[in-house]
Amino acid sequence: MDKKELVESLKNFGLLKSKKVEEALLKVSREKFVGEENEKYAYDDIPLSIGHGQTISAPHMVAVMTEALDVIGGQKILEIGAGSGYQAAVLSVLNHSGEVYTIENVKELYEFSRKNLKSYKNINVIFGDGSEGYAKKAPYDRIIATCGCPDIPGPWLKQLRDRGKLLAPVGSMYVQSLVLVEKKDDSILKQDLGFPCAFVPLKGRFGWK
Ligand code: SAH
Repeated sequence: MDKKELVESLKNFGLLKSKKVEEALLKVSREKFVGEENEKYAYDDIPLSIGHGQTISAPHMVAVMTEALDVIGGQKILEIGAGSGYQAAVLSVLNHSGEVYTIENVKELYEFSRKNLKSYKNINVIFGDGSEGYAKKAPYDRIIATCGCPDIPGPWLKQLRDRGKLLAPVGSMYVQSLVLVEKKDDSILKQDLGFPCAFVPLKGRFGWK
């Protein structure tokens, strides 16, 4: 498949819904994020290994999560789990005139994503334990976790702006469901989107031991 065919198939499956997310997926070249040996699979709808036991998510997962996060531009976004940097790149296209912070705790992947994201001026890649969020730049309008969480870490909820949205895969080490959190007048509304997924585990202080 090529990029256009992939996007068409995600639309046909009803996973890609909005024009703006479609355009963002068409703008970002996934082959630049998967590593040379995987380039030929860049537009297959599958997760791919990026080394260190980690993966770049399947394109359908990126489509579903990006739609659910509802990025409107001019916002401050935090991603936990930079990995290859691909999801951050898609978010940065949607969040024109805003800022994206993406945090990674594996040094080699921090460097890999930084290299892949060099041309994206509104993305900051941070090395550290994202299970604690990134207090330095809080509050965030949007927080997205691209690793599986045992529960939503307290610091993320604290660092979310009022009226902000947070999306995370929550469940066991091996299978999770997407949970969307909205903060309204300091109350927390959690909605299980009922979309099953299998992310690599969140590590660190508030993650899996
Ligand atoms: N968004 C990525 C997918 C990354 S997979 C992409 O588009 O390619 C999940 C990533 O989360 C892995 O790179 C893993 O190392 C990272 N991770 C796991 N626990 C973390 C933590 N506590 N802090 C920061 N990153 C973490």
